[in-house]
Amino acid sequence: MFYNKNNNKRTQIGGNRMILEERIKQLNDKKTAMERPYVVYWMQSSQRAEYNHALEYAIRQANRLEKPLVVYFGITDGFPEANERHYAFMLEGLKETKAALEQCGIQMLIRKISPEQGALEISGLAALLMVDRGYLRIERKWRATLAEGAECAVVQIESNVVVPVELASPKEEYSAATLRSKLKKILPHCLAPLEETVCQHPSVAAELPFEAYDVSDTEKALAGLAIDRSVPRVSDYIGGTAEAKRWLEDFIENKLAGYSERKNHPGESFTSNLSPYLHFGQISPLYIYRRLMGMDSESQQSFLEELVVRRELAVNFVYYNEQYDSYAAVPDWAKKTLDKHLADEREYLYSVEELEAAKTHDDFWNAAQLEMNLTGKMHGYMRMYWAKKILEWSSTPQEAYRKAIYLNNKYLLDGRDPNGFAGVSWCFGKHDRPWGERAIFGNVRFMNDKGLKRKFDMQLYLEQVAERARKRN
Ligand code: FAD
Repeated sequence: MFYNKNNNKRTQIGGNRMILEERIKQLNDKKTAMERPYVVYWMQSSQRAEYNHALEYAIRQANRLEKPLVVYFGITDGFPEANERHYAFMLEGLKETKAALEQCGIQMLIRKISPEQGALEISGLAALLMVDRGYLRIERKWRATLAEGAECAVVQIESNVVVPVELASPKEEYSAATLRSKLKKILPHCLAPLEETVCQHPSVAAELPFEAYDVSDTEKALAGLAIDRSVPRVSDYIGGTAEAKRWLEDFIENKLAGYSERKNHPGESFTSNLSPYLHFGQISPLYIYRRLMGMDSESQQSFLEELVVRRELAVNFVYYNEQYDSYAAVPDWAKKTLDKHLADEREYLYSVEELEAAKTHDDFWNAAQLEMNLTGKMHGYMRMYWAKKILEWSSTPQEAYRKAIYLNNKYLLDGRDPNGFAGVSWCFGKHDRPWGERAIFGNVRFMNDKGLKRKFDMQLYLEQVAERARKRN
């Protein structure tokens, strides 16, 4: 049966239909188990029904093998450092993704189970199992467990980066400059549009011998999870691909022209706000890149520098550096200089509770923490200042590192992401170079409030955050 609904934008025949082979990797040496009834895509990091190379590859395999495709997603209530704020955003996106897949005749089975366990169980019904790619330790461990335990071939397809991580570089990069020059050469090879195919064999999830977790009502689905509820949901960002695309179009229309000049101004809103959506894989970076192609301007270049060079440097970092979430990841020169200044007097020392409550002597810092507490995001420029000050106000750099990672991951919707681990590490010298020597920081780059006042209208930022806090109360 050939399945297609009227509002399905997928095409039956495309032009260049290749998916870059460097995005595809078989994770075990098992064969396709033709006697099994389904082709399965375990969706984990690319939580979207469009512009998803893993989904597209799975559809093509299902059509080739003439079997129905089932998309499986496992929700664990134990994902490290995730809380109600993160789960709500994810569930909003999953609801939309499930509905969009069903429009294409593809059933999405969502289960409340440890994701890799559910993947192992459903692999018993799979002729072939596809999975997208994740870079964090736990995501890699899940895939390794599946690859070892599955009784069929497991194929991983990388869709959350423009340039596949190993193609970009075979090693941990020293800085943005070293990665940039490599990306420049390989980028054109990776920009082919993703041609989307119609799924020819509809599947019926109800026929699967597993209990589905209903995400059609986000409140109910959220209430059914045993999760940390200490960090409330936010209304500023609603999860899902449609919202991600709305932010993208708003950015292109209203902000992009001023991006290179104004992106660093904390009181002005000239950035895209796409990071939570990228974090949950609700939008594809390749889709974003292609949407901006042809708009040749300084701002476009500046935005793509962040989206590709900086973001994929972070992926390179967590992929090649096993200690990405600890102080051990900081380069030796920075550790040495910070050690040398360990005994320097710290004028202010704050506990994590004081930081969390935005109760320091520094109004700018408090506003940044408050922005994060209230909205689930913090302006990009303030993130640098924020982490640098935690370093300045802690007894040791190790303690500062732990506090910064903890707060970053707890409150930010885009937290627990390669970008967060790389961002914190950058504030301690990673991907940066030595600067002039100062107390506490040694040769690690220093930032102070005078710099903020000199460059930006900080009053505007303070007022905005205060207004946001008034609305919440
Ligand atoms: P835009 O300026 O619109 O940029 C577009 C996209 O490019 C972003 O969504 C992001 O994916 C990428 N990008 C932008 N700046 C950077 C950067 N410096 N490094 C890597 N990628 C970048 N980003 C996270 O996604 N999650 C985090 O937890 C996180 N924590 C950070 C902590 C610190 C201490 C620092 C210094 C930076 C951190 N960043 C983090 C990176 C950056 O600040 C955010 O990605 C950015 O502010 C997100 O806002 P936006 O989408 O509006 O950015």
